[in-house]
Amino acid sequence: EGKTPANFIEHLISDDLKEGKNDSRIHTRFPPEPNGYLHIGHAKSICLNFGLALQYNGLCNLRFDDTNPSKEDTEYVDSIRTDVKWLGYDWDERLFYASDYFEKLYQFAEQLIRNGKAYVCDLNPEEIRAYRGTLTEPGKNSPYRDRSAEENLALFEKMRAGEFPDGSRVLRGKIDMSSPNLNMRDPVLYRIQRASHHRTGDEWCIYPMYDYAHPVSDALEGITHSICTLEFADHRPLYDWVVENIDLPAQPRQIEFARLNLTHTVMSKRKLRQLVEEGHVNGWDDPRMPTISGLRRRGYTPESIKDFCNRIGVAKANSEVDIAFLEHCIRQDLNANAPRVMAVLQPLKVVIENYPEDNVEELDAENNPEKPEMGSRKMPFCREIFIEQEDFREEAPKKFFRLKPGKEVRLKHAYIIKCEEVVKNEKGDIIELRCTYDPSSKSGEDTSGKKVKGTLHWVSAKHAHKAEVRIYDHLFTKENPEEEGEDFKTNINPDSLELLKDCRVEPSLANAKPGERFQFLRKGYFCVDPDSDNDNLVFNRVVSLKDTWAK
Ligand code: ATP
Ligand code: MG
Ligand code: MG
Repeated sequence: EGKTPANFIEHLISDDLKEGKNDSRIHTRFPPEPNGYLHIGHAKSICLNFGLALQYNGLCNLRFDDTNPSKEDTEYVDSIRTDVKWLGYDWDERLFYASDYFEKLYQFAEQLIRNGKAYVCDLNPEEIRAYRGTLTEPGKNSPYRDRSAEENLALFEKMRAGEFPDGSRVLRGKIDMSSPNLNMRDPVLYRIQRASHHRTGDEWCIYPMYDYAHPVSDALEGITHSICTLEFADHRPLYDWVVENIDLPAQPRQIEFARLNLTHTVMSKRKLRQLVEEGHVNGWDDPRMPTISGLRRRGYTPESIKDFCNRIGVAKANSEVDIAFLEHCIRQDLNANAPRVMAVLQPLKVVIENYPEDNVEELDAENNPEKPEMGSRKMPFCREIFIEQEDFREEAPKKFFRLKPGKEVRLKHAYIIKCEEVVKNEKGDIIELRCTYDPSSKSGEDTSGKKVKGTLHWVSAKHAHKAEVRIYDHLFTKENPEEEGEDFKTNINPDSLELLKDCRVEPSLANAKPGERFQFLRKGYFCVDPDSDNDNLVFNRVVSLKDTWAK
């Protein structure tokens, strides 16, 4: 509306609107199968479907595509609802289950049978495959293809009534066994499968196939544009056949776009489930997982995920997006919005010898230089502090502008200190630094005239809180873990999780709540993990500060 279409789907929709198709309605749906948790690929589909509805003043349904009983579960249904909501989309009352259409789907199948468009076939699965032919060879008609409508209706009813064993019969569309498109060679529409369904229980022992159930569900909901991924392009003639051959209340059209693939991870629910079930990760919401729940726990914001989905765009050809770009998107968001705090991940004690023994100063620390309106907080400063072990070197190269013996460095928001003495234990490990500070160098009122190159973060030893910090790396070492038939699990990164258990964070973080995000100065962006409580703070590193995305 007024806006120039940004991708081929928006072009198609604009054209449909211009031609007044579907009474100029736009109605999309997001149709997850509840057989796993949603991943970032699904987020792309969610943003696309709900986004188009918002953009064109239309509607978007959330539909559970739950026609395959064996792997589906209400745990997944609940997680999907949570994740879509969390992304910021609302289906209002438009929440549907394809399983609610089982009765209607059955009746429409009878309609196909009555019209000579479907038949019950007694070939077993292997025979069906053999009869189907190949890309270069036409298929052969099933010997059961010419059963009468009456016979088919009776057999189909008996299939439903549970009179035949699993796999012994199927209902097939009667289309064309010599079609160049294998999907059109009398596709299976129903199979017999004794499996309890998460909603309908044991009410049914026959279940409709995706290629049949999907277009009918779309039509029943008045969907105008049924957007799916590229693998279904070959199925579109079958989608259209179903829509044309059944007396349906609407005429949806299928549009395919390229699925999202990300480097250094896998994106199929089947493989993600394997990682969970075999204990390679700690659950679907492990912060290393590309699931929406994993990204949320890691510290991603909904805005950053939507931003990512919009910026990668919608394409007609498959490609792989660098995971560094996803990281770039959350980094930008948190750079703008996350409060800055100080945390020392690997503490080294510093005693400031000339600082009065029991004195505590409350120093001003700005919360976000990118957003002055976020104000400032007080940081306690006293005689004993912690700095980062890596910020001190006894034997330091010339270009090392952090702390070294006899040299000075600035403590952020505080004073310039000078290293006077290095204290070691019997083993020769550095256990403490003895320093002096320059009282005239206080940040904001510095009259020392000194110019020092390095500025370090620090925390007051007396006031800091202990914390555990979890640092994550890619789940897979290879950009494409699934390359050339390799077992993707051989490429799991053995060092994808580094635990730092003895960190110190500034006292303002004492009551930080799960989900809150911060920039730890010089260290990256961090989010409080749900494992965290006031006695044991736990932070996940969302991303480092350094942007590795090559523009
Ligand atoms: P998976 O292979 O991971 O199990 P799926 O396509 O079987 O994915 P569904 O639950 O059927 O999972 O997907 C719901 C919707 O999300 C579908 O419309 C599907 O096309 C879309 N979708 C799934 N994966 C991706 C992806 N990687 N990129 C974009 N859209 C996706
Ligand atoms: Mg699917
Ligand atoms: Mg799937």
